[in-house]
Amino acid sequence: LVLWGGVNYYTGQVFDMKTITEAGHAVGAYVGFDLAHAAGNVKLNLHDWNVDFAAWCSYKYMNSGPGNASGCFVHEKHHYSNLPRFAGWWGHNKERRFKMEPDFDPVHGANGWQVSNLPILSLAPYLASVELFDEVGMERLIQKRNQLTAYLEFVLHDIDQQLEGADFEVITPKNPEERACQLSVYLHGQGRSLFDYLMNNGVITDWREPNVIRLAPAPFYCSYEDMYAFGQILKRGILALNQ
Ligand SMILES: *Cc1c(COP(=O)(O)O)cnc(C)c1O
Repeated sequence: LVLWGGVNYYTGQVFDMKTITEAGHAVGAYVGFDLAHAAGNVKLNLHDWNVDFAAWCSYKYMNSGPGNASGCFVHEKHHYSNLPRFAGWWGHNKERRFKMEPDFDPVHGANGWQVSNLPILSLAPYLASVELFDEVGMERLIQKRNQLTAYLEFVLHDIDQQLEGADFEVITPKNPEERACQLSVYLHGQGRSLFDYLMNNGVITDWREPNVIRLAPAPFYCSYEDMYAFGQILKRGILALNQ
């Protein structure tokens, strides 16, 4: 089994899932992806890439709220294969579900892997989010994502170059093909105290040991002005901590 993150959670690197799938299949492996940081963030053609399976949570770029339902993909070619599966009654052929027959008769597609009932109240905001994805479309979202990330990169670069006491580097790939929303910043200087300064001043970032801040300007609700304001707060933080 090859099991890989479509987007690396730490560096924000986007992997070439098509090539990884081909390479895995060439040696007889199944290939699956953890798409926690990819769903709603990058364009995914799992079926065409021939990916065997994938899973993702819905509370990051999918905006469903913490603890909400996860998603999964199982390539349709596996409908007739003998992969081990959790066979739940919600995955059983709807027409015959209540006949209580001895054999499992799975619904076609990923629904055949559904183990149980769905949490309706928590799916309501998730549905609202998915409808917005339909309305806006991944193409436009990705266009803004790339511009916003590039602008954030410019803001960071500018501060690193111009401001005395700034000492950090972006460890996310520079190539737009190999990154999406996230920029991970490796702090050589102030470390955790700079992260605390940002959080205390209204910038919600994320800390990963030993000294990385993850910034993710989600294009649905982050603006160019947010990136500018972040730069101003970052500057003030570096100056304050260097005194
Ligand atoms: C967030 C995340 C998940 C999802 O984990 P949950 O248990 O659904 O919260 C999985 N893998 C990675 C790398 C993640 O960052």
